[in-house]
Amino acid sequence: MSRETLIDLLYLFSATTFVLALKGLGSPKRARYGNMVAAFGMLVAIVATFFKYVDGHALYHVPLMLLAMFIGLIVAVPVARFVKMTAMPQLVAIFNGVGGGAASLVSITEFVHIKSTHPATYVILEVLLGVLIGTVSFAGSAIAFAKLQELMTGRPVTYPGQQVINGVVGLASLALIVTILVTSSEPLLWVLLGLAFVLGVIFVLPIGGADVPVLISLLNAFTGLAVAASGFTLGSNLLIVAGTLVGASGILLTRLMSKAMGRSLPNILFSAFGATVTASGDTQRADGRSVRSGTPEDIAILLGFASRVVFVPGYGLAVSQGQHVLRELADELEKRGIEVFYGIHPVAGRMPGHMNVLLAEANVPYEQLVEMDEANSELQTADVCLVVGANDTVNPAATDDKTSPIYGMPIIHADLAENVVFLKRSMRPGFAGIENELLYNPKTTLVFGDAKDTLTKMVAAVKAS
Ligand code: NDP
Repeated sequence: MSRETLIDLLYLFSATTFVLALKGLGSPKRARYGNMVAAFGMLVAIVATFFKYVDGHALYHVPLMLLAMFIGLIVAVPVARFVKMTAMPQLVAIFNGVGGGAASLVSITEFVHIKSTHPATYVILEVLLGVLIGTVSFAGSAIAFAKLQELMTGRPVTYPGQQVINGVVGLASLALIVTILVTSSEPLLWVLLGLAFVLGVIFVLPIGGADVPVLISLLNAFTGLAVAASGFTLGSNLLIVAGTLVGASGILLTRLMSKAMGRSLPNILFSAFGATVTASGDTQRADGRSVRSGTPEDIAILLGFASRVVFVPGYGLAVSQGQHVLRELADELEKRGIEVFYGIHPVAGRMPGHMNVLLAEANVPYEQLVEMDEANSELQTADVCLVVGANDTVNPAATDDKTSPIYGMPIIHADLAENVVFLKRSMRPGFAGIENELLYNPKTTLVFGDAKDTLTKMVAAVKAS
């Protein structure tokens, strides 16, 4: 078997592992296995590439490549290992941006290389699309990272004529691509690079803090497409397959996230959602209604009398890192014959599967994680619904108030339970910035404080009872 055939077979093997990995990532039980399979496939592909002959000779600059890989390794491994769960979206943003930037650089190098050989128009088009999409993804991901890392405001940045300006820059980029196709001008390629960078920045600016994870998923799809374009340019089937898989799964994930938020993708991208906060933050409403607050000990007594308890975790649980104590509380209640399960909203937290990963960290049994629809049918017979750091995902405005910005988002109907308890620090709203009527419902009790602290006190009180 020739060297080339062997390398192609190894690439085929890698591509197969990527498909298997995606299958594994479809379920929390097999997600870890899926990741390992993909990582192994990637390792095989990288090693095989070092043995590749290009134009009849071995790769140049192997020591430099190894050095670059080593630097990447010593930066990325500790970052990935020690990143906090709540900072995962920005980690994905930065990794994704680097991928888009790399695809763009490959396309630029290739353009300079092949320009003098007068390649077919479609080849140059692939290269130019690689530059455009890869750079938009790089610049957009950098801004998304800055927003999520709070290096700049997380709220939408808007100004008059914004959409028109964005449209003009987008059309100018496409016009430039056509001009470069006709003229093969290298200086114009650099103009395209600059314009794509500007487009990436201005495209992301009006997108608000917690819409950014959806945007990152979309940018991730862009990076996939840029990589696939590089694959066509370099004649690499593996890059085409890997890029297409990333592109397709990114688009599917983006669609799923928008659906779970009850909003269309154009609404997420262009409506500057979250620019205004409408919640008053008061414990007393203008109509005289006020919230009822309790102590962790009060809630421990309430739980002691329950026979069915549903926990609804949200972003605040991840912030407080209270997942282990929540599990401890569940264990204590179960020891007392109380049935416990967790109602999981698909967009609770700040990234898809956030709650599943968080609770898996605390070894919560998968069987106790119940998806939204099932949780809603079970909640009618629950004595207590304990909402731990969730807000928008249980806000009845999504079903009751047609004027609400979250109207149409499917929610967990916490209010179906006999009693509702919220653990949160203040009257501040959730990501959507809107009032939650459920806080003022007569069956609701609020326990103010950090969720982990409150849960710790509740566990102590349950144990002492
Ligand atoms: P929310 O953002 O609606 O609410 C979080 C709540 O947690 C707040 O009320 C906050 O109140 C409370 N909180 C924060 N820190 C703590 C703490 N340390 N201890 C106790 N409470 C705390 O969260 P949800 O999970 O309900 O909803 C997620 C939102 O994010 C949805 O609007 C969703 O559309 C959006 N989103 C989700 C994505 C995903 O993929 N998961 C992607 C994009 C957007 P306080 O400050 O008073 O403590």
